[in-house]
Amino acid sequence: AKAAGRGTAIVFEEGMDMVVQDQHALEMDLKFALQRQEFELHYQPVVNLTTKAVCGFEALVRWRHPQLGLIAPNRFIPLAEETGIIVALGEWVLKRAAKDAMAWPDQIKLAVNLSPVQLRQGSIVEAAAAALRSSGLASSRLELEVTESVMLAGAQSREALETLRSMGIAIVLDDFGTGYASLSYLADMSFSKIKIDRGFIAHLPTHATSRAIVGAITNLARELDIEVTAEGVETEEQLLILKAAGCTHAQGYYFARPKPIDDVECEWNASVKP
Ligand code: C2E
Ligand code: CA
Ligand code: CA
Ligand code: CA
Repeated sequence: AKAAGRGTAIVFEEGMDMVVQDQHALEMDLKFALQRQEFELHYQPVVNLTTKAVCGFEALVRWRHPQLGLIAPNRFIPLAEETGIIVALGEWVLKRAAKDAMAWPDQIKLAVNLSPVQLRQGSIVEAAAAALRSSGLASSRLELEVTESVMLAGAQSREALETLRSMGIAIVLDDFGTGYASLSYLADMSFSKIKIDRGFIAHLPTHATSRAIVGAITNLARELDIEVTAEGVETEEQLLILKAAGCTHAQGYYFARPKPIDDVECEWNASVKP
């Protein structure tokens, strides 16, 4: 039994080694991925449930790794944040997305995700301004999505957000409800929009608590005159509950998965109209 125990420990350590090596190799590749033009943006529509029209797209970055194929952001964004690569990557995302959005009709908004590291680092205002300038995109068409963690990041991040807002850019509070003090953040800063975290939507309609939370968030948003988008809507059942709760915007596989720019359709496909 003792020998087997030791054997298990060795196997475990080897496994750990592989994970570390894997991360290290990925980190090396990540350093060159930008200049090798291996990143691409996919776009997922946001639907206005009242007008039943697409009102915007969220840009979601992917890494087309030469050996590993398409890598999802959850696998490389944390690494990009640790290494600081996120700053240059974030600038690229803003520029690319703003340029892409110029091909869409004027009423279609563009949402871009920001990392707390970008906000802390201090060049985000200039990066956003540069993206708007080089593309010609109106600032009123740009939405920047931040998570609650930025509210913990200190005064500099908060000031950057205020400056972006004064430029006419909308600031969206993403993954709402997952932090520790979501409600107090709403009082501290004025957001243009909140996005209800996918976790709550996933548990509709069976989970009574999620249902109640979604209802409460929607009511609160209405009282505060903030738009609310439900993310991760996958079924018609979820959509009906959200509409009944008074949710005005939605996003999710039920409508469309994120797609490369060439496959983006601003006109809504009649067969999946909400
Ligand atoms: P997020 O901002 O909360 O984005 C929503 C995620 O949910 C996306 O995953 C999207 O593809 C996925 N999703 C949308 N609808 C559904 C649905 O109906 N069901 C399910 N199961 N998933 C759905 P993705 O593209 O893998 O992105 C993951 C996260 O990576 C994003 O979460 C965001 O935090 C981060 N991210 C993506 N692009 C960027 C970027 O350009 N910069 C930064 N800093 N972060 C990014
Ligand atoms: Ca987002
Ligand atoms: Ca989200
Ligand atoms: Ca998220």
